Order: sequence, then C-alpha cells, then structure tokens
Amino acid sequence: MQLHECKTKNDKPVFSLLEHEGVKWLTSKRFEEMTGFRLAIATRFGGVSSGIYESLNFSVSQGDDPDLVKENFVRFGHATGIQAENMVVSQQTHTTHLRCCTKEDRGKGAVRHRGYTDVDGLYTDEPRLGLTISFADCVPVFFADPKKKVIAAVHSGWRGTVGKIGSKMALLMQEQYGCSPDDIYALIGPSICQDCYEVDEPVAARFREVYKEEQWPLLLVQSEKQKETGHYQLDLWEANRINLVDAGVSNDHIIMTNLCTCCNPNLIFSHRATKGRRGVTVGTIWMP
Ligand SMILES: [Zn+2]
Repeated sequence: MQLHECKTKNDKPVFSLLEHEGVKWLTSKRFEEMTGFRLAIATRFGGVSSGIYESLNFSVSQGDDPDLVKENFVRFGHATGIQAENMVVSQQTHTTHLRCCTKEDRGKGAVRHRGYTDVDGLYTDEPRLGLTISFADCVPVFFADPKKKVIAAVHSGWRGTVGKIGSKMALLMQEQYGCSPDDIYALIGPSICQDCYEVDEPVAARFREVYKEEQWPLLLVQSEKQKETGHYQLDLWEANRINLVDAGVSNDHIIMTNLCTCCNPNLIFSHRATKGRRGVTVGTIWMP
C-alpha cells in the first residue's frame, strides 16, 4: 500500500498503517506515545460495503445500507480494539457544537440510535469510550490531556475552521476540566491539502475576517490564473494549527497530517476526488 505523503508540509512520517483480518487503519505512534491513549483512523479497506462505498463506509447519509454500515463499525472496532458498542459517533452538520459523552452514550451512532443531532465535536473523561468523528476531506482533529485524562475530537471543515471549533474545544478542556494548555496534545488528521482545495472568493473572505492579515498569504494562495477568477488554494491544515495555538496548545504538541484524502482517494474517502460519490471515513480516539 502506497501512502502519498505531502512532504512539503511535513517531512517526517506521521502515520503507520496497521491491519487485522483485512481491516486497515492508520495510527500515529508518536501521538499514542506522547499521550498513552489510542488513536485509530480507518481506511477504505476491510468493510462490507460496495460500489461507491467500497468498502469500509461509516455513513448511511450518502445512501448506503444501514446493516452494512453497522457491520463496518463492528469490523473496525474488532480490528482496532475499541468495540463498536463502546464508540460514540458525532452527527455532523458543520456546526461548532460540542457534546460531553458519558457511559450512557456507548454505541450511539455506531450500533445504536443516536438521539442527538448537530454535533461536530465530542469530549469525555470516560475511559474505554471511543470518540468517533467522520470525514471525507474535512479535517478531523483529535485532542488528549494525559494528565487530566480528557480526550476530544472535532470535525472541522471550512465552516468549522472559520468557526474555530478547534480553539473552542481546547478552551473547553481548560475551563471544564482544568486542563493546562501545556498538557494538551493534538493531532490534525488526514484531510484535503492546500494543493487540492480550491475555494471561491466568498469562502476566502470569511477566512480574511477571522484570521490575522499576516496569516493570509499562508492560508490563501492564488495563482496568476486564479487572480482572474477570484479563486484561492486554502490551507485548512495550517488554519486548524493556528486555531489550536490560539487556544494555548504548544506547537510541538501538535502533530500535523501529511496525508491528503484527495491525493489518496483509494485509501480514504474524498468528497472532491469523487465529486461527492463516496462513503465516509472515521477516526476514533479512546483512553484504554
Ligand atoms: Zn491533496
């Protein structure tokens, strides 16, 4: 399996590819060593869905069979060691709403009915509860404080990113659990890279409203041709890094992805690469 890593952004290997009974997933050994917690990011391999959902798809919202999606959660959970009945899955609608997860949430969105909507971030201090975020180009961000034993995960597409959902979560960990920003670790997961992510002027304008002027040249790059169309290449990875640093997370506690979903659409589902005909990937973080 070839991982097409974006070396310009991060020249150190970030992810390792693991496999159990055909299910393949990514983890970051560095993140796991730094925190003592577990992280598993699914790939498309080892599930039972077919066609555009082939094969490890975790969403019914694109039209896949709910029984197959449930079986995919079971297989992914069995392979990675956090069983599907111990996962809790977001219900993402590009908000910045964060939800505290407890024992009562075990299995919700994976093998049980959710009972909540519009949740783009999850957090908990409960051990053996797998906080599960889905994505297919949008940025998943995982958080861990090994001292206070708190974990979190957010889904940060462009709307979540300008809404600063990453800052919001890191600040919540500090306010609600007394986490010191020095003890918070974060991983920005596989998602669309700047080279693949063209946006129009209205989206660019939202980023200029929210980010400092000196950050614009990094976040929004424009070719000569794009100057005529008013389009830009947007760096969601860097914008999310800024969001974390703004909330006090130290730069050397942030692991940045070097894997783009759109550059690797056969490995991880990509919305842009497939023009929307696709399944959904998940990532899960848990305290063992
Ligand atoms: Zn890319």
